[in-house]
Amino acid sequence: MAKGKINVAVENIFPLIKKFLYSDHEIFLRELISNATDATLKLKHLASIDEFKGNADDAKIEVKIDKEAKTLHIIDQGIGMTKEEVKKYINDVAFSGAEEFLNKFKDEKNDAGIIGHFGLGFYSAFMVSDKVEIITKSYKEGEDAAHWTCDGSPEYTLTKADKKDRGTEIILHISEDSTEFLEESRIRELLTKYNKFMPVPIKFGTKEISDPNHTPKTIKDKDGKETTEEQKMITVDDIINNPHPAWTKKPSELTDEDYLNFYRELYPMQFEEPLFHIHLNVDYPFHLTGILYFPKLTTNIDIQKDKIQLYQNQVFVTDNVEGIVPDFLQMLRGVIDSPDIPLNVSRSYLQSDGEVKKISSYITKKVADKLNSLFKNNREDFEKKWNDIKVIIEYGMLTDEKFFEKAQKFALYPTVNDKFYTFEELKEKLKPAQTDKDGNLVVLYASNKDEQHSFIEEAEAKGYEVMLLDSPIVPHLMQKLEGENSELSDKKQPIKFARVDSDSIDKLIQKDEEQISKLSEEDQTRLKTIIEEVVPKEKYTVQLEALDSNSNPFIITQPEFIRRMKEMQQTGGGGMMGMGNFPEMYNLVVNTNSDLMQKILKAKGKRKEYVNQALDLAKLSQNLLQGKDMTDFIKRSYELMKS
Ligand code: ADP
Repeated sequence: MAKGKINVAVENIFPLIKKFLYSDHEIFLRELISNATDATLKLKHLASIDEFKGNADDAKIEVKIDKEAKTLHIIDQGIGMTKEEVKKYINDVAFSGAEEFLNKFKDEKNDAGIIGHFGLGFYSAFMVSDKVEIITKSYKEGEDAAHWTCDGSPEYTLTKADKKDRGTEIILHISEDSTEFLEESRIRELLTKYNKFMPVPIKFGTKEISDPNHTPKTIKDKDGKETTEEQKMITVDDIINNPHPAWTKKPSELTDEDYLNFYRELYPMQFEEPLFHIHLNVDYPFHLTGILYFPKLTTNIDIQKDKIQLYQNQVFVTDNVEGIVPDFLQMLRGVIDSPDIPLNVSRSYLQSDGEVKKISSYITKKVADKLNSLFKNNREDFEKKWNDIKVIIEYGMLTDEKFFEKAQKFALYPTVNDKFYTFEELKEKLKPAQTDKDGNLVVLYASNKDEQHSFIEEAEAKGYEVMLLDSPIVPHLMQKLEGENSELSDKKQPIKFARVDSDSIDKLIQKDEEQISKLSEEDQTRLKTIIEEVVPKEKYTVQLEALDSNSNPFIITQPEFIRRMKEMQQTGGGGMMGMGNFPEMYNLVVNTNSDLMQKILKAKGKRKEYVNQALDLAKLSQNLLQGKDMTDFIKRSYELMKS
């Protein structure tokens, strides 16, 4: 029996392995299955170049639990190892790999990120075992099988074994504090998490299925009663994984149904179908494949759970793709598989890495191209989906300049009547009617059709288009679009966004024609004093205007600037911090051409009631009438009806 010592210099490596990787113990299984997969793929390669004469096609990996012996077995039918190879690869190569990994890990243990996902390899078995055995037989003819045993001390034994068939069996003697790994449900959970799409079939026990070659017959007894024969059950290997997931295939081989089925395979608990998919496939300057899906973002989005999954050669790595996928696309779902993403590094390093940046901008570009082609090829369908995808696109336009440029072609601006314009189309459309006297193009919008209903009507009566811009980040986007199209830039026409209720419609788009007031200067001064005596000064700025006589007598507005700044403060974003809280201030626009003004001026006893009533009605149309004010309003309304 051969005995040896692994490496005296780092005798404490085993306790270190246990200690450092505490939270990530479970990864041992993925590491061992990765090794088994590599060994199998190597054999298949040798078979393909005729170096190996046997049959490698059916090679699979088996995982077995022996509860009594307290062992977990990982068995492959790969290339195996000779005794010399065990010495070389397990004692030297594997060990130095583990050592190197741990040294690195010690320095960066505070950066939880991706570290701990890859690199420890075979020795991660000791995180959960008191003793590990390898029984292996090389594919090379005439080589003895070998048996390696190590109990966690630096000593090992290496003897001859009587294994007859090719491949490697790893036996883990699970330690007392890791007995969870002897539970079938736990192992199944891990296999499904990490190995669901690995390229070699993984068998975990057996299962009963109805025999596909047997169709139960219906038999009539002598009374003519029909009974159906029992379904015949057969036992088959329970294969955990799908070795040929959709992303490894060519887009031309896949139908829409295949993409949908793969989505269901990825997210079995997700019942909403995705809106569309993007197949990623690049060889140069890096390797990357994958499929991304635009989900329908419902109100109770579970962004936390169903995230994009990152794989390396079909091995699951993580579902935290921060730094690899741009922020605004992290709401997407699907798979990215790239062997070129460095994983033994910290997140901050990853984000500054040039290659990774290239990957991130490739993904952005592909997504933009896909959106553009969807828009071009089927605009009607794209418009239907707009509401579900706009947040992602608007977020991208705000955070990624390149995406912003590309999105100019397909980002849509809907009207309150469900007409959709691109920004260029919108400018063309609005230019004739909505250019104000200073040459600005005024884009009117509403954020809520019901709440701003009367304002929308006023605008439409003037022949203006009202857009419906209601996503929470859209104020930031308006700010950006205004900036890009301001007087300072050399673009053709300056653009201003104004919510329909931010001023009276004539003020929102000012034209040259002078409005003529029915009231004399003197009456106007008197009216203003009367109104200011009644309405609270600290809340309303009274503003007399000669509007259409059919327009409402009183209109409450909140200046665009103040409201937008508030909204932007709420949704966060740079530059808004430290501006303090904006006071709740409104303008009270008084329409001097309304007949009601004559009544207020002439009234004696009821003057105050009329002003309050008109103010409350204005508040009501802005959803601002509540509590005691509402109660008072109702009482006053009845009183006025009686009088
Ligand atoms: P890595 O896989 O990163 O090279 P490991 O520590 O996991 O590092 O394994 C070291 C080496 O041991 C492998 O490169 C391989 O040569 C050999 N090895 C490990 N597991 C097996 C196996 N199941 N079959 C054949 N060889 C194996």
